[in-house]
Amino acid sequence: NDSLSVIDPEIAAVLDQELGRQRDTLEMIASENFVPRAVLQTQGSVLTNKYAEGYPGRRYYGGCEYVDVAENLAIDRAKDLFGAEFANVQPHSGAQANAAVMHAFARAGDAMLGLDLAHGGHLTHGMKINFSGRLYDVASYEVDPATNVIDMDMVRKRALEHNPKVIVAGWSAYPRQLDFEAFRSIADEVGAALWVDMAHFAGLVAAGLHPNPVPVADVVSSTVHKTIGGPRSGFILSKNPEYAKKINSAVFPGQQGGPLMHVVAAKAVAFKLAGTQAFTERQERTLEGARILADRLMQDDVTKHGVSVLTGGTDVHLVLVDLRNSALDGKQAEDLLHEVGITVNRNAVPFDPRPPMTTSGLRIGTPALASRGFGATEFTEVADIIAESLKPQPDVEALQARVKKLADDFPLYDGLVQY
Ligand code: PLP
Repeated sequence: NDSLSVIDPEIAAVLDQELGRQRDTLEMIASENFVPRAVLQTQGSVLTNKYAEGYPGRRYYGGCEYVDVAENLAIDRAKDLFGAEFANVQPHSGAQANAAVMHAFARAGDAMLGLDLAHGGHLTHGMKINFSGRLYDVASYEVDPATNVIDMDMVRKRALEHNPKVIVAGWSAYPRQLDFEAFRSIADEVGAALWVDMAHFAGLVAAGLHPNPVPVADVVSSTVHKTIGGPRSGFILSKNPEYAKKINSAVFPGQQGGPLMHVVAAKAVAFKLAGTQAFTERQERTLEGARILADRLMQDDVTKHGVSVLTGGTDVHLVLVDLRNSALDGKQAEDLLHEVGITVNRNAVPFDPRPPMTTSGLRIGTPALASRGFGATEFTEVADIIAESLKPQPDVEALQARVKKLADDFPLYDGLVQY
C-alpha cells in the first residue's frame, strides 16, 4: 500500500485537518478562494513529473508533445478571456510574474513608481527588502488622507520628479477601481511603461464587472488563485505582440527554470471555467457580498464603537475595515473573528498609528464564500455576524453557532475524502 496515509501519516493528517478547517470555517481572506475539483485533479496529476523548459514547440526537453497542448490551451484561453495579443502562463506565482515584468521593462538601478505598501500596494511594487526595492530605484504614491482614494495628482507629481521607467498600478488592499486612463496619460507624459498588476481583481475583469486594463496598459500581470479561483500561480498579458519576446525571455530563462506543467494545465482549466455564465454569476455574488458587508459595517450600531469602512464602501471583492478609532486593534479583531469561525487578515490602514504586527485594520473578502455558493441572504447573515463580533462584549458562542449553520448549509468539496 503506497497511499499517503501509510507512507506519511503526519502529512496525511495535515491534509485531512486542513480540509476540515476549510469546511468548518468561513474563509474571508480576500486573496483566497476554493478551486474547483477539476483544478485539484489537474494539479495532483502526472504532469508534475514533466520538465518542459522553453515554450510550446521550442522546448529544451523531449517528450513535451502533450504538455505543449496544455500550455497552448492556457495561452489561448488567457488571451481570449482578457482580449490580449500575448500571454505567458509560466510564472509560478504573482510575485514571479512581477519580477519578470520588471526584468523585461527595466534594468537594475532604473526608477519605478508604485503604490506604497502601507497604502495598499504589494511587496513587489517597491518594498525595501523585496527584490523590487533592492534592484530598482523606487518612488511611491499614496492615498489622499481625507478620502483614502489614490491621489492622482501625487502620482503625476512623483512621476515628474522621479522619471520612472515603469509605473505600476495595482493593489493588494484597496477597495476601489483604478483610473487606468489617468495612469496611462501620466506614463505617456514621462515616457514610462504602464504595468497594471490585476492580481486581485482579475476575476472581476474576466466577468466584465471591472474595467479591463489590457487595452490600456503596456503589460498586465496577475495571479490565478484570487478572484479567478484557479491554481496558485501567475501569468502575464500584453496587447502588444512586440513585447512577446522580451517578456518570454524574462520569465524563462530570466527568472525561472522549468515551468510547473501540472499548474500550467490547471490554469487552462481555470481560464476555461472563467469564460462561463456560472463564473460571471459567481463574480456578481462576490461583489454583492462585499457591498452588503460594507453597508452593514457602516450602520450606527457598529460605527458608534469606532469602526468604519475605508472610502465609505467598495467597488470590488473586499472591504477594508478601519479600526483607528476602535478600542479593538487589527490583531484583536482578527483573533476574535477566528474564534467565531471567520478567517480574515489584519491589515494596516493608510497612516496607521499602530505597529505593523498589530495594525488598525481588517481586510475582508468575499470570493471564497461566493465560490462556496453564498448569495445575498447568506452574505447578509455573515455581515451581521461580523458586525456583532466587532461590538463590545460579543456573545461568541451564539456567533459560533450562526457560523456553523452557514458552513453546514454550504458543504465544501462534498464527498471528498482526501486521504
Ligand atoms: N500582486 C498583488 C497585487 C498581490 O496582491 C499579490 C498577492 O498577494 C501578488 C502580486 C503576489 O502573488 P503571489 O503571492 O502568488 O506571489
